[in-house]
Amino acid sequence: MIYLDHAAATPVDKRVLQAMEPCFTEDFFNPSAAYLPAKKMASEYESAKGVIAHAIGAKTSDLIITAGATEANNLAFTAISLDESRQSLSSPASQDSVGHPPHSCHPSVLYLVTEHDSVRRVAERYGGQAIDVLLNGLIDLSDLRKKITDETELISVSLANNELGTIQPIAEVSQIIREVKLDRMKRGLKRQLLLHSDASQALNLLDINVARLGVDLLTLNAAKVYGPKGVGALYVSHDVRLHPLTFGGGQENGLRSGTENVPGVIGFAKAILLTKEHLNGNRKKYAAWKKSFLSELSDYELINDRHSLDNFVVVCFKGLDAERLVFLLEEREVYVATGAACAASKGVRSHALKAIGLTDEQIAGSLRITFGETNDEAQIHEAAKIINEVVAGERERINKSAAAKKELAND
Ligand code: PLP
Repeated sequence: MIYLDHAAATPVDKRVLQAMEPCFTEDFFNPSAAYLPAKKMASEYESAKGVIAHAIGAKTSDLIITAGATEANNLAFTAISLDESRQSLSSPASQDSVGHPPHSCHPSVLYLVTEHDSVRRVAERYGGQAIDVLLNGLIDLSDLRKKITDETELISVSLANNELGTIQPIAEVSQIIREVKLDRMKRGLKRQLLLHSDASQALNLLDINVARLGVDLLTLNAAKVYGPKGVGALYVSHDVRLHPLTFGGGQENGLRSGTENVPGVIGFAKAILLTKEHLNGNRKKYAAWKKSFLSELSDYELINDRHSLDNFVVVCFKGLDAERLVFLLEEREVYVATGAACAASKGVRSHALKAIGLTDEQIAGSLRITFGETNDEAQIHEAAKIINEVVAGERERINKSAAAKKELAND
């Protein structure tokens, strides 16, 4: 089998599994309990959180552990929306002078049009407005500037896109936000303006530092870095006030009650350490694979450009049906994707590919190929060869069928 869908899922690294295993059996204690073995688990949990936080240049207390990136993304939006003091924050002049309707209890949010559904859907719930991307998938910064109003409270732009791998210039976005905040301050407007970034896909390939990026909120996902599924985190800058979504035992600084997922977090910490250790080597390796893969592949159009993660290749085989290609490649034991796994399972065409201006025909013929740790160089060559054969076979079948139809019409 040649697995080329690491953006959808990564296998748990054996060393990660090994680190997690004792917490399922002998070290199963609830960290909130009063006896010594439980206290030991509480302390191990905190140090594991510390490792994850340290990996992104944050403090342990800045991290809220969640059950995956979907929850972390949702938390970023929903937790600020519960701020009841919102209505009294902006000056009356800010509402009337520009003709905005009175502020509702929902925050005004912006999100990048290519975001993962776990951002897009929750942003839409709050009436969020989409920020355009340029044809290369990068955020249109002039559109961002245009869409920020005095009401805007949250802007969400992923660090790397899950369908194209596009790496967004978050530091530039953050600079624009700083300018807007300064202007608001000068005019006496108190409304907050936060920057959230979903780093689910980026953690594997980019050296992330929250201060350098200038983000207030950042989503992490263990499942994309050879850690366990269903474990994620939301970084929340210490000066941001969020509101709890779940109420109970008061875990995670009171923001997300529920017994701590000790094995999950210990696994995530181990996974992040391993990822960090191999970051530069992996980037070089994937970049070299991408180059040789593309040089061996025939008859395609490259969709994602140089601003994307090194392990992402999105190619279009014009005139072909990518869903059929996925099926035919599976028969040859090569696993690829047509887009985000969750969208593909529902037969939904990619909104991200549409946003970068691809035609329906281009979208229909596009494959997402993502390299990872289950691959080696030989597999990359083999995959290119198999894809070429399958594509050539499909083209031949289509040509034959067109010729037969023509002949029939002539008869
Ligand atoms: N955000 C991005 C960019 C993703 O790629 C994914 C998963 O594919 C998610 C969020 C959702 O992650 P999960 O399904 O683990 O909650």
